[in-house]
Amino acid sequence: MSLKNLGYTLLALVLLFLLYTIVFTESGIDPIRPSAENYSVDYNKLSEQAASDLQKYLRIKTVRGNEIQGALFLKSILEKRAVPVKIIEYPGMRDRVSLVAELKGKDQTKGGVILTNHIDVVEVDLSEWSVPPFEGLRKGDRIYGRGAIDMKGLGLMQLYAFLLMKDLKIPLEHNLMFLSVADEESRSRFGTRFLLQDHRDLFKGYEFLLNEGGAGSKDIAIKGSKVFNIQHAEKGAVWLDLKVKGDSGHGSTPPVKYAAKSMIDFLEEVQKLGTTTVIHDEAAAFFYELGAISGFPNSFVLRRSRNPLLKLILNGVIDSSRHLRAMTRNTVSITGVDSHPSGINVITSETTGTIDVRVLPGSSEKEMFEKIKSLGEKYGVEVSARHLEPGTSSPVDGSLFRILAGVVSAVEPGAIATPFLSPGTTDSSYFRALGFKCYGLIPVLFTSEEIDGIHGKDESMTVPQLKMGIEILFRTLVEYNHFSKQSSK
Ligand SMILES: [Zn+2]
Repeated sequence: MSLKNLGYTLLALVLLFLLYTIVFTESGIDPIRPSAENYSVDYNKLSEQAASDLQKYLRIKTVRGNEIQGALFLKSILEKRAVPVKIIEYPGMRDRVSLVAELKGKDQTKGGVILTNHIDVVEVDLSEWSVPPFEGLRKGDRIYGRGAIDMKGLGLMQLYAFLLMKDLKIPLEHNLMFLSVADEESRSRFGTRFLLQDHRDLFKGYEFLLNEGGAGSKDIAIKGSKVFNIQHAEKGAVWLDLKVKGDSGHGSTPPVKYAAKSMIDFLEEVQKLGTTTVIHDEAAAFFYELGAISGFPNSFVLRRSRNPLLKLILNGVIDSSRHLRAMTRNTVSITGVDSHPSGINVITSETTGTIDVRVLPGSSEKEMFEKIKSLGEKYGVEVSARHLEPGTSSPVDGSLFRILAGVVSAVEPGAIATPFLSPGTTDSSYFRALGFKCYGLIPVLFTSEEIDGIHGKDESMTVPQLKMGIEILFRTLVEYNHFSKQSSK
């Protein structure tokens, strides 16, 4: 081949690649637009009632315990509407209870939906709050209190949607459960994990869960945007204890190797495990949906997140956001290093540490542990696992996810839905591990300040937010039953 021909061939290849870049895009999600009857509901009136119930619920202090009082409150609302309620106590602990209420559907063997929420809340730092956190204070349209969002607010939206299904006598194709659990904030030993282990029968015929884990946001990702991030997956956790020993000595004459230095060299290398960006189909769909509401040139790049030519640009964006990094990478956090120092000129003989590694669904938590353990051998660092948990994922092409995605933009025009992978875990991870399909969404549009209130200060929820949440959840349940009926024809 002559030099000229080679030039033409190369030019043709470059043009072909450019053409591929322009034409080929990833794909987004596939929402199902609502098609069921839109029942006439006075959501304004309902959200005022829900607000008043939320005030009462927030006054019941359930900081990592005392769920019984919260459960009795929910029970009283359900029983007034003639819904039978079961309260299940963790053996030997009268305060740690969960609550179950059910509406039975036509086909009780499969397809049931569980609306799940937790009664416990986390503690508060009183010095940070500008309002009392356990008085259910209302100022204008806003109700303040620990748990207003996480998760008493969402729990009440679920309860109101559940009661609407009953009161309007919506024909149910499958079972519907309202489930309020204990102990979610302290890893669910007395709540979900106990129920799944000792009361598995409760969940026969159920297939789906609507839970916390994702939320709607406005103006956060992109100015003017309204984005409902529906959580469909959670990362796994690899929590490791580290220990290295060496000779002690004088700080003036350091040996080549000693404990503190070995630990630091090791940690330096472990951190490199968290630098590879992995974009799974769902992450590509997440970026694609954001692209749909972005201006050029971002829209061009976001819709082509796995294009090798554009990868560099996207990587820059991901690098600059800890949230995006957590969604697309295994991460390593150094959460403790201690060389047990005794004096500034003394080299000590032992250094201990802890790291919190989070793995994407699809990366094995056990393989990650083994990898870090063998790295440890290189530096003389002993690595032991305190807790290993796999990442979990539910499909985003299934009916309930697609229906929820369709309903949010019907209720809030101009809003989009994305498939969201959350770095932390919720009770959904225990259900997913048993095959349930779980989706997490607080169906409300929050500002970033409001989101900071979760586990933070001045947590609050407004009446219009309650209204939006009740409507989205109720219409999702209506559409789901409608869809099931159409599909079974
Ligand atoms: Zn929560």
